[in-house]
Amino acid sequence: MEQAQHIAIVDGVPVDTRHWIGGRRVTSRSTFTDRSPIDETPVAEVSAGGAAEVDKAVAAARAAFPAWAALPVSERSAILRRLADGIEARVEDLSRVETRDNGSLIRSHRRGVMPRSAANFRYFADFAEKELGHPDMEVRGHRERIGYDPAGVVAVITPWNAPLMLATWRIGPALAAGNTVVLKPPEWAPLTASLLADIAHEAGLPAGVLNVVQGTGRQAGAPLTAHPGIDRLAFTGSVPTAGVVAAAAASNIVPLSFELGGKSPLVVFADADLDLAVDLAVEQFDNAGQVCLGAFRILVEETIAQDFTERVLERARQLRQGDPRDEDTDISALISRPHFERVQGFVDRAIADGARAVLGGGPNPDLGGLYFAPTILLDAAPGSEIVTEEVFGPVLTVQTFSSEEQAVAMANATRFGLAATLVTGDRERADRISARLRAGTVWVNCFFVRDLGAPFGGSGKSGIGREGGIWSFDFYTDIKNTVIAPSGWTGGQERANHG
Ligand code: NAD
Repeated sequence: MEQAQHIAIVDGVPVDTRHWIGGRRVTSRSTFTDRSPIDETPVAEVSAGGAAEVDKAVAAARAAFPAWAALPVSERSAILRRLADGIEARVEDLSRVETRDNGSLIRSHRRGVMPRSAANFRYFADFAEKELGHPDMEVRGHRERIGYDPAGVVAVITPWNAPLMLATWRIGPALAAGNTVVLKPPEWAPLTASLLADIAHEAGLPAGVLNVVQGTGRQAGAPLTAHPGIDRLAFTGSVPTAGVVAAAAASNIVPLSFELGGKSPLVVFADADLDLAVDLAVEQFDNAGQVCLGAFRILVEETIAQDFTERVLERARQLRQGDPRDEDTDISALISRPHFERVQGFVDRAIADGARAVLGGGPNPDLGGLYFAPTILLDAAPGSEIVTEEVFGPVLTVQTFSSEEQAVAMANATRFGLAATLVTGDRERADRISARLRAGTVWVNCFFVRDLGAPFGGSGKSGIGREGGIWSFDFYTDIKNTVIAPSGWTGGQERANHG
């Protein structure tokens, strides 16, 4: 009975709404209401943590650290592989809960996002066990041995647009490297983090190795970022919050990994495969445009602009907007009322500034609620807010260029540099242009494909650092160089005899 109060049944799946600290459930006196973007109804009352819960979680993580770090890597990796198995076994539950919680498409969760969350544990477990390390180096007869020591307690703060996947992307390598973790999930979509805690526990992850503190950014996130007991801070979220987080972490000189916003271009040349270019443009409406990597600024060569735009429009009109729990839905709702108003504000100001909405421009009249219609804007003023700032909604702008030089200048004309996509039939042009783009990832004639071993991160204001493969371990470990002289060995016993 006591426990039932803390269990929310979310589309048939029981979810514990309390924190997970030191291997047990912990309640806070106050709660916050978690609502579904699907219909704005409450989903759960979730424990609202603050400085006290953060203190407990950091203490639990610190207490668990020595034993977890000392465990042979093969044993740590075996537990993380079981955790991956646990996620795979619960893909359906996780998909249902995440879809209800953040409104993303269930079909994406089932086929892509949840399997990738499992892969985030499996890949880094394998990497730590089989690939981490360098051959010894030699200098003037001395041997240099490079080691990757776990850093300690890692604080992980995540956004709502892909909460479980983005959390596991940080937690996977952090745990594989021998660290312990305190996760603060997003208050707009906090529930899959709780299921992750259950799955980790069932997989045999020792108490305190993974802790989850629920709560708002200000109440739970802020004390975590400023906590003197953390050794690494992995933050995924917006640029304005990142500034506050960086300032909080500065006094403790905690290394940061920031994965932030973007305003990525999709650059379409006249020699491109136009079907492919249209497909890639329409794909940007995925997750209702709430994707950091989304290429929302379409830059198209003048000579094909009219044909291309008409074809994109035709395809975008066919997108089915509605309940994300329906497998046939292509585009769903925005996360929250404040976010909806924010997106509307961007579009209204763009139109006041001279842009023309040739599709959408506001709420879907048939659906209401938080369903913002897929929107395409033409004639946006160069350098205006709509083509330089992140909207994080289903809003594409189409601008034209007439030369490579102009295409590169336009593509680079934001403070962000997360990604860029090029569509061209000319291999040499692809090489020329991609070399000049300021972006952490450049896709040529494709989008969203990436191996977990490849570096991921943003240039400019899109982030600090890179993760993926060895780059994750660079961040989550203290790299140590041990230099060993060829001489001076007296033997342990002889040395002891010398006193
Ligand atoms: P946000 O910055 O508002 O919140 C992110 C997280 O920070 C949440 O958990 C929030 O509770 C927490 N937070 C808020 N204030 C805080 C504070 N003062 N101290 C500590 N934590 C605090 O971002 P959002 O609106 O949840 O997510 C959307 C943003 O995330 C977009 O800008 C998007 O581009 C970005 N994002 C980036 C990536 C990437 O990999 N580059 C991936 C997904 C999302």
